Amino acid sequence: MGSPRNAARLDVSARQPRTFDAPRLPDGHRAPVSSFFGRHVLDLIKLREKLPREVYNALLSTLRHGAPLTREVAETVASVARDWAVSHGATHFTHWFQPMTGLTAEKHDSFMDLNVQMSGELRVLEKFSGSQLWQSEPDASSFPSGGMRSTFEARGYTAWDPSSPMFLVESSNGHTLCIPSAYISYHGHSLDHKTPLLRSLEALSRTATAFLKLLGDVDVKGVTATLGCEQEYFLVDRAHYSLRPDLVLCERTLLGAGSARHQQFEDHYFGTIPARVLAFMEEMEYELYLLGVPVRTRHNEVAPMQFEMAPIFEDVNLANDHNVLAMDVARRVARRHDFECALHEKPYAGINGSGKHCNWSMMTDRGENLLDPGKTPHQNLRFLAFLGVCLKAVHDHAVALRWSVSGANNDLRLGANEAPPAILSAFVGQQLTEILERLMKGEAAKDPEHFLLEMGVAKLPAVAKDNTDRNRTSPFAFTGNKFEFRAVGSSMNCAVPMAVLTAAAADALQDMTDRLKAQLEGKPAHRDQAVVELLREVFTETAAVRFEGNGYSEEWKAEAARRKLPNLADTPAVLAEVMKPQHHGFLIRTGMLSQVELDARFNVAAERYLKHVLLEAETLVDLLTTGVVPAVERQLATTGAAWRVVTEASGTAKGSPYGKRVTALATGLEMVQDGVARITALLESVRATRDEHEAGRVLGAKMRPLMQEVRDAADRLESLVDDEHWPLPKYREMLFVK
Ligand code: ADP
Ligand code: MG
Repeated sequence: MGSPRNAARLDVSARQPRTFDAPRLPDGHRAPVSSFFGRHVLDLIKLREKLPREVYNALLSTLRHGAPLTREVAETVASVARDWAVSHGATHFTHWFQPMTGLTAEKHDSFMDLNVQMSGELRVLEKFSGSQLWQSEPDASSFPSGGMRSTFEARGYTAWDPSSPMFLVESSNGHTLCIPSAYISYHGHSLDHKTPLLRSLEALSRTATAFLKLLGDVDVKGVTATLGCEQEYFLVDRAHYSLRPDLVLCERTLLGAGSARHQQFEDHYFGTIPARVLAFMEEMEYELYLLGVPVRTRHNEVAPMQFEMAPIFEDVNLANDHNVLAMDVARRVARRHDFECALHEKPYAGINGSGKHCNWSMMTDRGENLLDPGKTPHQNLRFLAFLGVCLKAVHDHAVALRWSVSGANNDLRLGANEAPPAILSAFVGQQLTEILERLMKGEAAKDPEHFLLEMGVAKLPAVAKDNTDRNRTSPFAFTGNKFEFRAVGSSMNCAVPMAVLTAAAADALQDMTDRLKAQLEGKPAHRDQAVVELLREVFTETAAVRFEGNGYSEEWKAEAARRKLPNLADTPAVLAEVMKPQHHGFLIRTGMLSQVELDARFNVAAERYLKHVLLEAETLVDLLTTGVVPAVERQLATTGAAWRVVTEASGTAKGSPYGKRVTALATGLEMVQDGVARITALLESVRATRDEHEAGRVLGAKMRPLMQEVRDAADRLESLVDDEHWPLPKYREMLFVK
């Protein structure tokens, strides 16, 4: 009994599912989702009702065609937003933005204003002006800027992003109106994750529209990217969580012997959702529905206590805002259910980590999915062309894409046995591979019309089917009508990988447009032939990036090396590569980020990596010194005493099982103490290193392996020490909560 760990165990086993006040129909049944979906969102339907027609139309033309927004429109939208928010009990508003910390940021201001009357009386009223909606000036000096601060002024401002609707966030005692915003330095440099995504989308729209024109789709006025992200997460009971300083500080366990039962029975995936967890999911989904987030799927994942939620896909900017909100809501609601929602990529060693599979495609303003195989030869040609765009994007810009999913946490997941490798390849399925091979052989060149018709009738219906039973080991897999970028980590802001992927596609489109234009010069009648010829080249040039086999295998690593595909194992290695102009030049070409902004991001990434690993090392030293070592010492005293008693009683000096036990404990203890000393020494030398990139390399190459080595010794001790004396909740306790 007695120990905090035991008390936690009892608390956890006594917990019951929590109920919440869901809206109900008069007959007591839960009201359908459609009756409250989006209630806390100031969406276009509400704006159409409330805004004067000409203001609404002006706003719409900004959203649809990028027409500049006028002050008058902002003024009217602000007053409508204020009335709506105040009528829902909101007292404050905030620009809601996504700085480079990986979290969201907000600074609340009250709607309250004082108005001095002619008579001298003071009147209090609710005020929210167009300029308050338009922009705000949080102090930029406390957010990462990657060094841009030393060159530029500290001031920064947030600017309203009208393409993502305002929403209300409910707290215990009130509501706040949140205004999705971009975050920019005083001199116009992006300091956030949203701005590069918006810029990439502009590049995509521009290049894709021009390319489509050449293909004969002259009516398309804009193209956007779509995203549906499957979010994986773990739940940890709060009682256990609070007893694990490593989880509290670093969001992952730095110690912990594997549980005898883990995922070997393969019984968790799609299994019955535990009642307490289901209750949490229902409340989380309810809150997300109020916020207009279309979460649709929930299920158990492969590892015990690991789960997934997936929404219906949306425009990538909105979908990303929604994912950021979903992570936030998941964390908040989990606490009400006595859970902590762990979004870290690798909270436990030895069992699966968590990803955020980003399903991505491109869509015209007419709602056509450009990665959907069509019915006519023309649609089929267009489909193949955009498939070529994607393969070229991954082939040409693998290093930047790898960079977009790098970080101290995801490094622990990528290349482990359950997650995509650090090598970027693309999977397209057997049917498509066959089509591409035939195209590469020049079969289509003779009679494109016939080839495309035959391919459509005989093969394309099978493509969708083929890809439902798909390769799960690929970091970038075609799944019938979209690509699934699986290398993205669960805790990341997916605006970053989505912006890089979108910019990579835009760059590929620009190149393919230029080449096609050159081919068509003077002979526009041969369009299909020219497109087929271009595709033959593109599929040939990018063949190295296609891989249909097992991405987890050792053979693939060897094969990828033969193909000269980059295999960048950790963040310092990625940064060293991506900082070379040939790997990031396209991000500047497409307008996603300037050189100054990119350099700043590389600095921020190096600094964040450094801070992460340093924090882990310090936390590990603390856990070992104040938790593990004392527990082992107590055990040594007990075992040593027992040994003496037995030795005295039997009158011989042999107490062999005791001797072995004492030796094992003492050796383990020595390894741990020696490890602590080595980690501490390395910490000191890293802290003395001036260059952050160099310090990062040392941490990746030396500190992390050293931490693993010491951890292994400590985990062996866990199985030698009296269960009562072990201070940290064990894997078997945390992973099998009912
Ligand atoms: P699966 O279970 O085969 O992965 P789903 O259709 O459930 O297939 O897709 C998973 C995710 O992909 C969902 O979030 C879904 O909305 C999203 N998705 C489907 N079509 C697209 C698309 N065209 N663009 C982006 N995401 C998409
Ligand atoms: Mg999927």
